[in-house]
Amino acid sequence: MNPFDLTGRVAMVTGANTGLGQSLAIALARAGADIVTVARRDAGETAAAVEAAGRRCLQLTADLSKMDGLPGLVADTLAHFGQLDILVNNAGIIRRADAVDFTEADWDDVIDTNLKSVFFLSQAAARHMLERRSGKIINIASMLSFQGGIRVPSYTASKSGVAGLTKLLANEWAGKGINVNAIAPGYFATNNTEALRADENRNRDILARIPAGRWGEPDDLGGAAVFLASRAADYVQGHILAVDGGWLAR
Ligand code: NAD
Repeated sequence: MNPFDLTGRVAMVTGANTGLGQSLAIALARAGADIVTVARRDAGETAAAVEAAGRRCLQLTADLSKMDGLPGLVADTLAHFGQLDILVNNAGIIRRADAVDFTEADWDDVIDTNLKSVFFLSQAAARHMLERRSGKIINIASMLSFQGGIRVPSYTASKSGVAGLTKLLANEWAGKGINVNAIAPGYFATNNTEALRADENRNRDILARIPAGRWGEPDDLGGAAVFLASRAADYVQGHILAVDGGWLAR
C-alpha cells in the first residue's frame, strides 16, 4: 500500500486557475484525487491537466472575499462528488505600500481573502468532515507567517494569522479525525512575486539569501501537499511546513 496514494479522495483547491494553486491541484490529481477548482476565473487549463491525469474535475466559480458563498461551495461539491476529503486554502492576494500610507481598503481586501475566507471555508468543510470523522485541511501560509516582511502589512498580518489559525483548528479537530496543517512557500515565481522579481535589487537580495540559489517553481510545492493530504500525515497536526529552498535556515 502506497501511503501517499489519494485514489478515491476528493480535494478542493482554491485559486486553482493559476500559480501555486494550479500546481497543487495537478499534484493532488496525479496522486489520485478528484479535484474541485475554486476560482474567480475560468480554471479550464487546470481542469484539462487534471483530466489528462485521469481524474475528474469540478470547476466552481467564487469570489472568496465574500463569505456568503462559501458554504455553497461545499454543498456543490457534495452534490457532485458526494464527499470532500481534502481542502487546500490557497487563494490569496498581496498589496504593497509603505505602512504609513497603507489604506483601509488594502487592509480589508487582503485580510478578507487571505484569512477570513480561510476560516469560514474551513468551517464549512469541517461541518462535513466532522460528520465523517475524516479530512485534511492544508492552508497556504508564507515566510511572512514567521517574519515581518516590508511594505506588506495586511499580507503579513493575514499570513501570521493563517499560522495561528492552523494551530487553533488542529487543537480543536485533531481528536475528531481532521488534520489541519499549513505549507509555507518560500519565494516562488508566480504573479504574486512579479513585482519583486522585476525589482533588480530586491531580486538580487532575495536570491542571495536562498541557499538553494534559485526561486521556487510551482512544481516544487506539490510533494508537500500530497504528503499532508495523505495517510502518511495522519499524525501530523498543526504543523507549518516550510518549502523554501532553505530561506528560513539562513
Ligand atoms: P497568484 O496570484 O498566481 O494566485 C493567487 C490565486 O488566488 C489566483 O488563482 C487568484 O485568482 C486567487 N484569488 C485571489 N483572490 C481571490 C478571490 N477573492 N476569490 C477567488 N480567488 C481568488 O499567486 P500565487 O503565488 O500562486 O499565490 C497562491 C498562494 O500562495 C497565496 O495564498 C499566496 O499568498 C501564497 N504564497 C505565494 C508565494 C510566492 O512566492 N508566490 C509565497 C508564499 C505564499
